[in-house]
Amino acid sequence: MLQSVARRFLPNSRTDKCLRLRTKGKEIQVWQSTEYKTATYAGLQTCGSVWACPVCAAKIAERRRAEVVAAMAAHKAAGGCMLLLTLTAPHQRTDLLVDLLAKQALALKKMFADNTCRKVFAEMGVLGQIRALEVTHGRLSEFNNGWHPHHHLLLFAGSGVDLARFDEAQRKDWAARLYLRWAACCEGAGLGTPSFAHGLKLDDGSKAARYVSKWGLEDEITKGHTKKAIHGETPFDFLRAYLGDRSDKQAGALFKEFAETFKGKQQLRWSPGLKKRYAIGESTDDELAAQMDDQAAMLGTITLEQWCDVLADDGRATVLMLAANGGWDAVARYLQAISGKGQRPRTS
Ligand SMILES: [Zn+2]
Repeated sequence: MLQSVARRFLPNSRTDKCLRLRTKGKEIQVWQSTEYKTATYAGLQTCGSVWACPVCAAKIAERRRAEVVAAMAAHKAAGGCMLLLTLTAPHQRTDLLVDLLAKQALALKKMFADNTCRKVFAEMGVLGQIRALEVTHGRLSEFNNGWHPHHHLLLFAGSGVDLARFDEAQRKDWAARLYLRWAACCEGAGLGTPSFAHGLKLDDGSKAARYVSKWGLEDEITKGHTKKAIHGETPFDFLRAYLGDRSDKQAGALFKEFAETFKGKQQLRWSPGLKKRYAIGESTDDELAAQMDDQAAMLGTITLEQWCDVLADDGRATVLMLAANGGWDAVARYLQAISGKGQRPRTS
């Protein structure tokens, strides 16, 4: 349903065609996960957009999460520890997202080249990091500061240093020294001065999980952009807002600005050599989005004529819900009921 909203704002994009057009030479199938009982399509094109497509983003995030979990486990087994560094820069309601992103990228580049920062990272025993990009928007808050892009850096620390020194006092000292440099880098990039309270956060990885239960560091960096934001709205919150209230034109406009600006940007960036060190494979977002669940069984196939009916009825989500809950009989009854609604498509 959210994807159907997204495509309204992104006509002629790959997300517009995602899970609508058939993959050349393939038949359209519905599969069910034996483990989770959820249903998915096979034989349809996928867009692989980690930013704009709620369906592909969910798949990619889940598979990236497994990579992060594996790397963290290997790092801890090798005697290391995790630290989470969050960097935020000042922003105003009138800022364009594209400008903020460019300036933040420059500030980050300065930060990583900075001698003091390198020294602090060396004291922490950082041998690599995974950088996650995220954005929220403050239009619903009392003080609307507009777009709020920020970075989470998962630091693979504790290598070749004494872990007994990693206490709170030491972490506060590192955070203060890094903050001073981050503030200078932001100023140098034309962003203004971040506040001491919000500009930089350095958390102990073992305690940084935002929620007590299942949400861990790996979720924070792989799924942050898809969740419901605690402060402000994530881009997918705009889609939820529009789904709930079709007169919310602003949600659509902001989603469009976001999708166009973030297109092609990496959501997760591993520092050079880190994947190799922990034997994590290289796979693209496209590959992950197209990957099938290993533990799944095929329920049935849909003809091209029937698929046209489904598209005409905006029933792609309905088919999956029926398949998951009522099996193929329920899907067949639905297909019968909407028979003749669509016309033959322009697809391959
Ligand atoms: Zn997609």
